[in-house]
Amino acid sequence: MRRTAAKLADGREIIYFDDTPDAPPRTAVDTRDLPASQPHSEVRRDPLTGERVAMAAHRQTRTYKPPADLCPLCPTSPGKPTEIPESSYDVAVFENRFPSFAEDVPEVPSTVDGMDMVARAAGRGRCEVVCFTSDHNTSFGQLTPHRVRTVVDVWADRTEAFGRIPGVAQVFPFENRGEEIGVTLHHPHGQIYGYPFVTPKTERMLSVAGEYFAEHGRHVMGDVLAAERAVGTRIVAEGEHWTAFVPAAARWPVEVHVVPHRQVPDLPALTDAERDDFADLYLRVLHLMDALYDRQLPYIAAWHQAPVRTGRDLAWLHLEVFSVLRTKDKLKYLAGSESGMGVWINDVTPEQIAERLRG
Ligand SMILES: [Zn+2]
Repeated sequence: MRRTAAKLADGREIIYFDDTPDAPPRTAVDTRDLPASQPHSEVRRDPLTGERVAMAAHRQTRTYKPPADLCPLCPTSPGKPTEIPESSYDVAVFENRFPSFAEDVPEVPSTVDGMDMVARAAGRGRCEVVCFTSDHNTSFGQLTPHRVRTVVDVWADRTEAFGRIPGVAQVFPFENRGEEIGVTLHHPHGQIYGYPFVTPKTERMLSVAGEYFAEHGRHVMGDVLAAERAVGTRIVAEGEHWTAFVPAAARWPVEVHVVPHRQVPDLPALTDAERDDFADLYLRVLHLMDALYDRQLPYIAAWHQAPVRTGRDLAWLHLEVFSVLRTKDKLKYLAGSESGMGVWINDVTPEQIAERLRG
C-alpha cells in the first residue's frame, strides 16, 4: 500500500492509500477557491447524566456549494472539482469540512453561563471521511477482499495517527449506509471520529468488563465468544480468527457482532492474518445482510476500540453492525422506551435474527 499525503485548498489534509501497483503518483492540486475552514465545536457535560454532548455550530459561511448533480466524493473530472483533486484513487481519506471535532477550534469558557456543574470545553479532536473506492455505484459489501484489507489497514493507520493527537481520547471508525440511516451521499464512504473524551458506551462497557474480570479473572467478551461458539444458535458466520454472531441481548431487528478470537485493544494490534480473515468474514456477513430482505440493507457499522490511553487491557476490539429495518420496508423507530429511557424493545429474538441471516 502506497500512502501520499497532500493539502486541500482550505488547508485540510487529504491522504491517498493506493493498493494497485500501477496507480499514478498523486500530485493533483485542489484548484477550488475555498475559504479557510474555521470549525467551531464545543463539548458540554450533562450535569444529570455525566455524559458529554458535542455542539458543532459552525459559523463560517458555506460559500462553496457543489452542483447538486456532483458527488463530492467522486474523483475530480475536467470542470467538476470535488473534495478529491485526483482523477482517480483507490482509497482516499480527508478531513471533514464541517467536523464535529477539530484540532484548531477556539477556546471556550470552562462552564456554561458560570454554572459550575455544567463543564464546557472546546471540541478538540478530529473527523475524517474515508472513501472506500472511487466507484460511486457500488457498496462496501461489493468491494474485493483485497480492497477491504486495504480499508482495514487505513483504519489502523488513522487510529494510530489520531492517537498521537493531543487530547484525542478515543478513535471511532464507522460507516452509515442507506437513506434510512440518514445518508445523503451515496458514494461508498465511512467516517472516523477522534473524540476528546471516552464515549459513554465505552465507559460503561469497560466498567462492566472490569467488574467481570475482578470476579472471574477473565474477559467477559472472551467468555461470551466461547459460549456463543459452543452453543452455535446465534452464530452467523465463522472465520479462522473471527466469529460473527447475533448478541444474546440484541437491541436491533438486525444486529451482528464481528469479534476477533484474541483480545486486542484496537485495529493496529491486529496481525496480517487477522486482517485478511476479517476482510473475508465481514464480506460474507454483509452478503448475508443484503440477502435478508433481498435488498441493500441500510446499516450502521461501528468499531469498538479501546480508548487511546485507558482500559487497553480490558477492552476487546470488535465491530457492531446493525440495521433499523425490521422488514423489507418497515423501520424500527427509537420511540418512548428507547429514546426516553434507553430500554430497547426488540420485536424479534436474536435466535430468529441469526436463523434468518444464515438463510
Ligand atoms: Zn461519488
